[in-house]
Amino acid sequence: MIVGILGGGQLARMLALAGHPLGLKFITLEPAKDACSAAVAEQLLGAYDDESKLSELADKADVVTFEFENVPADSVTLLSSKIPCYPPANALAITQDRLNEKKIFNQLNIPTAPYRAVDTLDDLKQAMEKLGTAAILKTRREGYDGKGQARLESAADITTAWQTIAGKPAIVEGLVPFDREFSIIAVRSRTGETACYPLTENSHKRGILHSSLVRTDDPLQALAEQYINKLLNEMSYVGVLALELFQVGDQLFANEFAPRVHNSGHWTQDGAVCCQFENHLRAVCGLPLGSTRPLGHIAMLNLIGELPNINPILSLPDAHLHLYDKTARSGRKIGHINLCCKDKQQLEQQLNALQSLL
Ligand code: AMP
Repeated sequence: MIVGILGGGQLARMLALAGHPLGLKFITLEPAKDACSAAVAEQLLGAYDDESKLSELADKADVVTFEFENVPADSVTLLSSKIPCYPPANALAITQDRLNEKKIFNQLNIPTAPYRAVDTLDDLKQAMEKLGTAAILKTRREGYDGKGQARLESAADITTAWQTIAGKPAIVEGLVPFDREFSIIAVRSRTGETACYPLTENSHKRGILHSSLVRTDDPLQALAEQYINKLLNEMSYVGVLALELFQVGDQLFANEFAPRVHNSGHWTQDGAVCCQFENHLRAVCGLPLGSTRPLGHIAMLNLIGELPNINPILSLPDAHLHLYDKTARSGRKIGHINLCCKDKQQLEQQLNALQSLL
């Protein structure tokens, strides 16, 4: 079977690496000449909205998926009219607009931060009066890794915040005083079976995911599973879905979801029976899902901006290095390290050692 992927970055690369042992072949549509998936997948060089390239992809592949959520929803709709295409275009369209994303959470009784839609400076002023708290302004579209956002501590910050997002259609959210940030990753098959990975606690630096700690048996697992299952079923979803959550005491608030394999799920490559990449492929190809059972005490650290000396990293007994074959550049994710240890103490020791190396 040949899997087409819109996008040829590290997620496509890791999908292909996970899919080759299943006998799958891969073809990507990607505009960048130096795409890091090129070593493991055939590449069609072209824009995501190039209709002739999309037709070529549909002709060559048996099923199509995508590796990031800013591919045009129309391209996915077009591909869906020609061949099976998962996750569904509606999931992509919802997540491309933060207002629609918030609406679906609310419709499914999944709690979120209080929010207001903002189209003008006046809307922002009124919303800040209603929210009456510190807030965060986010463009409705095309924001990721903290881009297209501005924090407001008080009404004095309104004009600067509005300029920061260049007056684009936005939402403003009350700041959630969270204890921890979590994500949950789940997969749904073509026939509606679902499986969830354990909750992952995430920490960010300058808006970019820095590290993830797997929280096996967290008391909030059942609640997180309930929320993500509602989303999966509502959207008749197929593939891997990631839901980002804020924990406040014994409550969870949804922040956003990503209709794709997710950075906070990279630990599954070495820390779960079947990793998120393989499970995504199993789902979109109509194969039985694999077990999401964790294999130990697990953490993941991203390599951002520069490549460290890899020898001491590889000398750690439970470290697995994953490089993306990307040129190092400030703020750019170029790889990650998974630690999968048999007990908590070993994980803490190796995590400390790793942090001092990076
Ligand atoms: P986002 O692009 O929505 O994932 O936001 C990036 C980061 O900003 C999140 O991982 C949080 O650390 C923080 N953040 C976003 N929205 C809120 C909120 N409503 N309350 C508190 N922190 C937030």
